[in-house]
Amino acid sequence: MSYKIVVLPGDGVGPEVADAAMSVLVATSGVFDLSLEFDNHAFGGAAIDACENPLPTETMAACKVADAVFLGAVGGPKWDGAALRPEAGLLGLRAGLNLFANLRPVDVHPALVEYSPLRPERVSDVDILIVRELTGGLYFGKKNREGDNASDLCKYSKFEIIRVARIAFEAARGRKNHVTSIDKANVLETSRLWRETVTALQKKEFPNVELRHELVDSAAMKLITSPGSYDVVLTENLFGDILSDECSVLSGSIGLLGSASLGSGRLGLYEPIHGSAPDIAGQNIANPVGAISSVAMMLRHSLNAPKAAQAIDNAIYSALENGVRTSDLGGAFSCSQMADEIQNRIFAD
Ligand code: NAD
Repeated sequence: MSYKIVVLPGDGVGPEVADAAMSVLVATSGVFDLSLEFDNHAFGGAAIDACENPLPTETMAACKVADAVFLGAVGGPKWDGAALRPEAGLLGLRAGLNLFANLRPVDVHPALVEYSPLRPERVSDVDILIVRELTGGLYFGKKNREGDNASDLCKYSKFEIIRVARIAFEAARGRKNHVTSIDKANVLETSRLWRETVTALQKKEFPNVELRHELVDSAAMKLITSPGSYDVVLTENLFGDILSDECSVLSGSIGLLGSASLGSGRLGLYEPIHGSAPDIAGQNIANPVGAISSVAMMLRHSLNAPKAAQAIDNAIYSALENGVRTSDLGGAFSCSQMADEIQNRIFAD
């Protein structure tokens, strides 16, 4: 069986890290005998320049029939004042593909603890998976502006909570079997529904996965004071947006982390968590590890190839262990050299 992968290089360092990630994916497909077809499409600022639309109809149509979509990054100062911004394409893409769960793994490589802003003893055992609800809550509720007053409605249904919570519990089964659900149930009605629904789902479908509830304000502190005490973190859209950025600094560089956005089928959107980094674009110095980790997530979640995914994770680990670093981590390897080093470490066992 052949898998169809749509590649959206985007803007700034997006095309550089996308090339790096695709070179590793092609090498991995050779080692694991996977049949892949690639289809590149314009997206973001590049698509605004080409056809005045950050998410052209053909791009959306191609994504809808793909097995997986890889995105580099979008945005940049060129389009900052424009009526149509590249980032609008990103929201349209996630909504159009009905991707309701965003997964962000955060860990700290043993060789990189010195780059974390926290003391080594606090980050040495960090291995968190953040599962954020992506298409509901405050960001998508009715907005209103009347004179000097404004409001944003925060709305969740049981259906929306169950489908994302199920992804978190399933992920926990393959990890340390623990989910921390974060809400503000002492104040918000949506959070009370969230807590009740997550508790009921755990009892009914995942009795062997441990569940802990935390309020978002104390969780924001604990994620810094004892990040090693978390396994899977499940939360709603706004809290997840903030907490996932808070956690991303633990690893030492924004260039290291990947992400997956999933829906109810096999199709997923995979992208590094960083933006288009206009300050370093065009120099071949961006760290491609976040993009390459995203490809490992693609193999795991959309292409049914967990062994190939593990081989990429192992190759990244080995490269970092052996001092292969881009300039954000004090090294001298270029983006493409880093990708070569990782791809040379892909093995079948
Ligand atoms: P950014 O993530 O692009 O850059 C922040 C800092 O991190 C910069 O100093 C940059 O050089 C550095 N950095 C980022 N990625 C790196 C990498 N792979 N290797 C080494 N260093 C890296 O965030 P920003 O500067 O706030 O945003 C720039 C543009 O990107 C904006 O237009 C923003 O809207 C857009 N953006 C896009 C996405 C996305 O495509 N998903 C996400 C965030 C921001």
